[in-house]
Amino acid sequence: MKPCTNIFPLATILMSLMMAACEKPREPTFAKIVPSAIIEVRDGPTQAELDKETRIVMLGTGTPVPDAHRAGSSIAVIHKGQAYLFDIGAGAIHNAITARYKYDIPSLYPSQICCVFLTHMHSDHTMDYAELAATLWWRSRAPLSAWGPVGLEQMTNGMYEMMAPDTALRTEGAQPVQNSANNRIKVTEIEEGIVFQKDDLTVEAFAVNHGKIKPAFGYRITTDERSIVVSGDTAYSEKLLEKARGADILFHEVISDSGLAGQTEFWQNYHKSSHTPASVLGRLASEAKPGLLVLYHGLFYGVPEAVIVDEVKATYNGEVVLADDLDVF
Ligand SMILES: [Zn+2]
Ligand SMILES: [Zn+2]
Repeated sequence: MKPCTNIFPLATILMSLMMAACEKPREPTFAKIVPSAIIEVRDGPTQAELDKETRIVMLGTGTPVPDAHRAGSSIAVIHKGQAYLFDIGAGAIHNAITARYKYDIPSLYPSQICCVFLTHMHSDHTMDYAELAATLWWRSRAPLSAWGPVGLEQMTNGMYEMMAPDTALRTEGAQPVQNSANNRIKVTEIEEGIVFQKDDLTVEAFAVNHGKIKPAFGYRITTDERSIVVSGDTAYSEKLLEKARGADILFHEVISDSGLAGQTEFWQNYHKSSHTPASVLGRLASEAKPGLLVLYHGLFYGVPEAVIVDEVKATYNGEVVLADDLDVF
């Protein structure tokens, strides 16, 4: 692969050639090994799932910008046979089904997913909430639990209203629906602090700086094996820096410096106050020194994706990768 350099804003044709050279090769669809339309039910994790190490699956690495390769933001932490989702953007649930079979993770089967934590209420982080709550709910064994900022309750109630005709058809019609309450979600609107604990798993929410979008949270997730920090959407955040210091893995949003430079002043000002330019993220990571920096929610604005990694590396010597959907860490 040719080295990718910052070329914005050269002629479009040159850009196209560079984009082709910089693209990571993507896996072909593996439809052959994925079974279709299997109903899965279970009462709890198997011993093999309980014994498995903590894994992190990227269910969505995208942004509000429609992207054929990337679902909306969603990161799944798989721990002791449960799937804990951090955000749930559009397409995340379809990726969860794929990941369930690709990596043999039963807890990622949609009606088995136990828990969702939202960073903020922007649609690119929430659109598959209704999808998750509605998909095969009548066969699930337990209701979904969700944590998130103020607004989560309102969104949940709106979703119930949207789904009311479906709920009525399935519970009052000919279908033998047993768990008529299982499409109700256990909702907790959160403040900063520890919001969830189970065995060795702790989930801590902390406020980040997403400009005027408030509240917006990042999460620090710790288990006996790993410490994981998820930025959500944020500009440079001192609080995040503090929480990410020495973490095993930091998932951080990013916006390309060169892509941003090509935007209007209005959009540059908005993004600089709400998101983290690659060069700024490099400096934050140099301070935080995570074991691994994983870029997600990348706003590229037309520059080749690999350029954003080079832009971070310009101010950061540590290990950094740009995540794709379905990557596992
Ligand atoms: Zn976003
Ligand atoms: Zn946002």
